[in-house]
Amino acid sequence: MEAIAEKKSYQVDSRGYYGNFGGAFIPEMLYPNVEELRENYLSIIAEPSFQKEYNDLLRNYVGRPTPLYRANRLSEKYKTNIFLKREDLCHTGAHKVNNTIGQILMAKRLGKKRVVAETGAGQHGVATATVCALMDIECIVYMGELDIERQAPNVARMKMLGAEVRPATCGSRTLKDATNEAMRHWINNPVDTHYIIGSVVGPHPYPDMVARFQAIISEEMRWQLKEQTGKETPDYVVACVGGGSNAAGSFYHFLDDENVKLVAVEAAGQGLTSGHSAATTALGKPGVLHGSRTILMQTEDGQVVEPFSISAGLDYPGIGPQHAYLYDSGRGIFMSATDEEAVQAAFELTRFEGIIPALESSHALAVLGQLGASENENVILNLSGRGDKDMATYMKYID
Ligand SMILES: *Cc1c(COP(=O)(O)O)cnc(C)c1O
Repeated sequence: MEAIAEKKSYQVDSRGYYGNFGGAFIPEMLYPNVEELRENYLSIIAEPSFQKEYNDLLRNYVGRPTPLYRANRLSEKYKTNIFLKREDLCHTGAHKVNNTIGQILMAKRLGKKRVVAETGAGQHGVATATVCALMDIECIVYMGELDIERQAPNVARMKMLGAEVRPATCGSRTLKDATNEAMRHWINNPVDTHYIIGSVVGPHPYPDMVARFQAIISEEMRWQLKEQTGKETPDYVVACVGGGSNAAGSFYHFLDDENVKLVAVEAAGQGLTSGHSAATTALGKPGVLHGSRTILMQTEDGQVVEPFSISAGLDYPGIGPQHAYLYDSGRGIFMSATDEEAVQAAFELTRFEGIIPALESSHALAVLGQLGASENENVILNLSGRGDKDMATYMKYID
């Protein structure tokens, strides 16, 4: 008998893997917490009462569906049809709240009394503090001591929202140290605390759970594009990648449409060969980071290399395991943009369309001229956030 070829899947398998990437590489002390989540997350998400509350909040609190906007002047310049998915119009200014809404409802159903999170630039911390205020749940956000100094406005927002911001004082006193502290806190408070991770990273089931909460982005893209062009699938979907949550959400409902090119854009920092970069797939190798096997930037002997990007949200030494698999399998097209190219693209969008984008999203905008998209093709670019938080950086380029 002929063997039936198994349909190639880009989704997580029952063991928590995407090809060779993923899994749950965690200290034994963390096992009960992660296991409780793994056993329950799919059935909780499927509950009609969960779906109703999640969708009501996305609609009436976050402001979904976010528009799919045809950028006419940009389309004219690049001689193709460019649509912007306006995640910058979400409450709190970026896509991150789609995930924190989902996870706070998960925490409630698991009977948790407290939430802990890590944050780098403070965007995920603000999105977490926001939903904790909404649900009257205690919120502790770990943040590197150095980042607390650099990101004062977001620290103030979190405090005003009622969160306790705890400094991580070890190591480089940035995101990776805050992540370690948050995990330590979770180990010590396993029964009553839920850990809200901010991207499609961490041990299984986090990458899959976060991707499901962000998948609303591509679900809306499909019907919105159909409404406007008569076609449900674009030729390209483009998104920036830090850990990869806005990209995972943008790709989710197109993964099996092999004619849709999925373009992930990493931060090249000061240049791929400059030693100050965050372009993980260009510079990294397989290894284990924050609980999963993925691709990360590391030295010969496996030490994590400090990443660098002008954009705090892309300043991460790894990518989520699903992205590692999309890269490895060739399903995803991985590109990069430098600090300089991203800033230029931010000014271009602002002057062409009257939209000031986040520095993260500007990396995706920066590759529009390199896609090779033709006049009849449709490109959807996920505009992950708005640029208000980056004004201090942009101001340096205005004379
Ligand atoms: C945090 C952030 C990102 C990067 O995170 P992903 O998980 O890769 O999406 C991108 N854009 C904005 C606006 C962000 O705040």
